[in-house]
Amino acid sequence: NRAADALDASALMVEEVLAEAGIERAAVICAGIGIPGPVNRARGTVGSATILPGWVGLRIAFEMEGRLGLRVEIENDANCGALAEMTWGAGRECSNFAYIKAATGIGAGLVTDGRLLRGASGTAGEIGHTTLDEAGALCYCGNRGCLETVASGPAILQLVGQGRSEALTLPRVIELAAAGDIRCRRAISDAGREIGVAVAGLCNLINPERVIIGGAMSRAGDLLLGPIRESIRRHTVLAAADRVDVVPAVFVERAELLGSLALALTSSTEARSAPV
Ligand SMILES: [Zn+2]
Repeated sequence: NRAADALDASALMVEEVLAEAGIERAAVICAGIGIPGPVNRARGTVGSATILPGWVGLRIAFEMEGRLGLRVEIENDANCGALAEMTWGAGRECSNFAYIKAATGIGAGLVTDGRLLRGASGTAGEIGHTTLDEAGALCYCGNRGCLETVASGPAILQLVGQGRSEALTLPRVIELAAAGDIRCRRAISDAGREIGVAVAGLCNLINPERVIIGGAMSRAGDLLLGPIRESIRRHTVLAAADRVDVVPAVFVERAELLGSLALALTSSTEARSAPV
């Protein structure tokens, strides 16, 4: 059972960190967990059967509370990124923004009027499963032609990996692109263009003042952000396009960690809804 093993391993890591830092358990107010999929916070479970199938029905917060003896809050990883940027990063003093996590998957954390938009079952912001091509490749979510089938880290690796002796990783592709590799540059800029089409739809719907691009792909800088800006300009109503700035995230590797911290800090002051 990989989900239970992952929770066991995480619980061990928490013990190690507490011991290393010399912190008493009683001094810990809450633990926060970032999950790479939709999260139903009221139930403390994963909110989609197809995106994280091994985790369905598992009450993650409850299970971890049992292992840790601490209060635990869970949140979607892109939402964690948005919380980190809202609290300490590029979303400070900004009450309407979209944080896009572009990495192995592509997700969005949406902040409207200063609050995270979670939706009815926690799937708000699943921008990676926006249909770009109804006849496109089958996605793991069960639909066809989703943004993730053409613009995610694995999609880029598949495109540029063919015919190379070196086994590529996303950071290596970004490095090669920066050094002038034409195929890597094209794959990243095409991914940016596709992400921009989906983000343009988002801009039309929620009219953000800022779009913050995070996740491992954001390390490509303007090679990714330039085409995103161009697609937004082409596909968003003018008033929304004029208003929006596309900026890189302040936090990349530590986004989920800091977001979980922000989650734990804010939720410790809020009443928690009981698991159903
Ligand atoms: Zn999909």
